[in-house]
Amino acid sequence: MRCSDCGKCCEGTEMPLSKEDIIRLERLGFSREDFTVTAGDGLTMLRNVGERCYFYDPEEKKCQVYEHRPLGCFIYPVIYSNDEGVIVDELCPMGQTISEQELRTKGKILDKLLKKIDNKSVQLHQIHDIL
Ligand code: SF4
Repeated sequence: MRCSDCGKCCEGTEMPLSKEDIIRLERLGFSREDFTVTAGDGLTMLRNVGERCYFYDPEEKKCQVYEHRPLGCFIYPVIYSNDEGVIVDELCPMGQTISEQELRTKGKILDKLLKKIDNKSVQLHQIHDIL
Protein backbone atom coordinates (compact mmCIF):
# COMPACT_ATOMS: atom_id res chain seq x y z
CA MET A 1 0.00 0.00 0.00
CA ARG A 2 1.01 3.61 -0.31
CA CYS A 3 1.11 5.12 3.17
CA SER A 4 0.78 8.90 3.17
CA ASP A 5 2.27 9.23 6.66
CA CYS A 6 -0.80 11.12 7.76
CA GLY A 7 -0.36 9.77 11.30
CA LYS A 8 -4.05 9.01 11.83
CA CYS A 9 -3.21 5.48 12.91
CA CYS A 10 -1.13 6.85 15.80
CA GLU A 11 -4.06 8.83 17.21
CA GLY A 12 -5.88 7.30 20.16
CA THR A 13 -4.32 3.96 19.39
CA GLU A 14 -5.89 0.83 20.82
CA MET A 15 -3.11 -1.49 19.78
CA PRO A 16 -2.75 -4.80 21.62
CA LEU A 17 0.84 -5.94 22.13
CA SER A 18 2.24 -9.43 22.01
CA LYS A 19 4.96 -10.57 24.42
CA GLU A 20 7.43 -10.39 21.53
CA ASP A 21 6.44 -6.79 20.82
CA ILE A 22 7.05 -5.83 24.45
CA ILE A 23 10.40 -7.59 24.68
CA ARG A 24 11.58 -6.03 21.40
CA LEU A 25 10.65 -2.53 22.56
CA GLU A 26 12.25 -3.07 25.98
CA ARG A 27 15.48 -4.04 24.25
CA LEU A 28 15.53 -0.55 22.76
CA GLY A 29 15.68 0.82 26.29
CA PHE A 30 12.03 1.61 26.88
CA SER A 31 10.25 0.52 30.04
CA ARG A 32 7.03 -1.45 29.66
CA GLU A 33 5.56 0.54 32.53
CA ASP A 34 5.93 3.62 30.36
CA PHE A 35 4.67 2.40 26.99
CA THR A 36 1.96 -0.07 27.98
CA VAL A 37 -1.41 0.06 29.64
CA THR A 38 -3.58 -2.85 30.73
CA ALA A 39 -7.08 -2.75 29.28
CA GLY A 40 -10.16 -3.76 31.24
CA ASP A 41 -10.15 -7.15 29.54
CA GLY A 42 -6.56 -7.76 30.66
CA LEU A 43 -4.92 -7.15 27.29
CA THR A 44 -1.66 -5.22 27.26
CA MET A 45 -2.01 -2.26 24.92
CA LEU A 46 0.11 0.60 23.67
CA ARG A 47 -0.21 3.65 25.92
CA ASN A 48 -1.35 6.96 24.51
CA VAL A 49 0.16 10.20 25.71
CA GLY A 50 -2.33 12.95 25.08
CA GLU A 51 -3.97 12.16 21.77
CA ARG A 52 -1.29 9.92 20.33
CA CYS A 53 0.70 6.77 20.84
CA TYR A 54 3.54 6.90 23.39
CA PHE A 55 6.07 6.35 20.60
CA TYR A 56 4.81 9.08 18.28
CA ASP A 57 7.30 11.93 18.03
CA PRO A 58 5.24 15.13 17.59
CA GLU A 59 8.22 17.19 16.47
CA GLU A 60 9.38 14.77 13.81
CA LYS A 61 5.78 13.74 13.17
CA LYS A 62 6.70 10.09 13.01
CA CYS A 63 7.04 6.89 15.00
CA GLN A 64 10.20 6.74 17.14
CA VAL A 65 10.38 2.96 16.88
CA TYR A 66 9.17 2.50 13.31
CA GLU A 67 11.73 -0.20 12.45
CA HIS A 68 10.77 -2.09 15.61
CA ARG A 69 7.09 -1.21 15.78
CA PRO A 70 4.51 -3.66 17.11
CA LEU A 71 3.38 -6.31 14.67
CA GLY A 72 -0.13 -4.87 14.75
CA CYS A 73 1.21 -1.53 13.56
CA PHE A 74 3.20 -3.28 10.83
CA ILE A 75 0.13 -4.91 9.34
CA TYR A 76 -2.21 -1.95 9.74
CA PRO A 77 -4.57 -0.96 8.05
CA VAL A 78 -5.45 -4.65 7.99
CA ILE A 79 -7.50 -5.28 11.11
CA TYR A 80 -9.87 -7.83 12.62
CA SER A 81 -13.54 -7.03 12.90
CA ASN A 82 -15.75 -9.25 15.05
CA ASP A 83 -18.48 -8.92 12.45
CA GLU A 84 -16.50 -9.08 9.23
CA GLY A 85 -13.24 -10.85 10.04
CA VAL A 86 -10.07 -9.56 8.39
CA ILE A 87 -10.74 -6.20 6.75
CA VAL A 88 -9.03 -2.96 5.78
CA ASP A 89 -9.69 -0.24 8.34
CA GLU A 90 -11.83 2.45 6.77
CA LEU A 91 -10.15 5.04 8.98
CA CYS A 92 -6.96 4.79 6.94
CA PRO A 93 -7.23 7.24 4.03
CA MET A 94 -4.89 5.11 1.92
CA GLY A 95 -6.55 1.79 2.66
CA GLN A 96 -7.80 1.49 -0.91
CA THR A 97 -4.20 1.24 -2.16
CA ILE A 98 -3.62 -2.11 -0.45
CA SER A 99 -3.35 -4.99 -2.91
CA GLU A 100 -5.23 -8.28 -2.65
CA GLN A 101 -1.91 -10.04 -2.13
CA GLU A 102 -0.92 -7.71 0.70
CA LEU A 103 -4.33 -8.11 2.30
CA ARG A 104 -3.98 -11.90 2.20
CA THR A 105 -0.43 -11.85 3.56
CA LYS A 106 -1.21 -9.39 6.34
CA GLY A 107 -4.41 -11.26 7.11
CA LYS A 108 -2.37 -14.40 7.79
CA ILE A 109 0.01 -12.47 10.03
CA LEU A 110 -2.95 -10.94 11.83
CA ASP A 111 -4.44 -14.36 12.44
CA LYS A 112 -1.18 -15.55 14.01
CA LEU A 113 -0.95 -12.42 16.11
CA LEU A 114 -4.49 -12.83 17.38
CA LYS A 115 -3.70 -16.39 18.38
CA LYS A 116 -0.67 -15.14 20.28
CA ILE A 117 -2.70 -12.50 22.00
CA ASP A 118 -5.26 -15.25 22.47
CA ASN A 119 -8.32 -13.09 22.40
CA LYS A 120 -10.24 -13.01 19.14
CA SER A 121 -13.12 -11.22 20.80
CA VAL A 122 -11.16 -8.01 20.74
CA GLN A 123 -11.94 -5.76 17.84
CA LEU A 124 -8.65 -4.58 16.50
CA HIS A 125 -9.59 -1.44 14.72
CA GLN A 126 -8.40 2.04 14.18
CA ILE A 127 -4.98 2.12 15.47
CA HIS A 128 -6.27 5.14 15.53
CA ASP A 129 -5.52 2.15 16.57
CA ILE A 130 -3.63 -1.97 15.79
CA LEU A 131 -3.67 -4.49 13.15
S1 SF4 B 1 -3.63 6.02 8.70
FE1 SF4 B 1 -2.95 4.86 6.85
S2 SF4 B 1 -2.06 6.42 5.45
FE2 SF4 B 1 -2.20 7.35 7.51
S3 SF4 B 1 -0.15 6.92 8.46
FE3 SF4 B 1 -1.53 5.25 9.11
S4 SF4 B 1 -1.21 3.61 7.56
FE4 SF4 B 1 -0.37 5.53 6.67
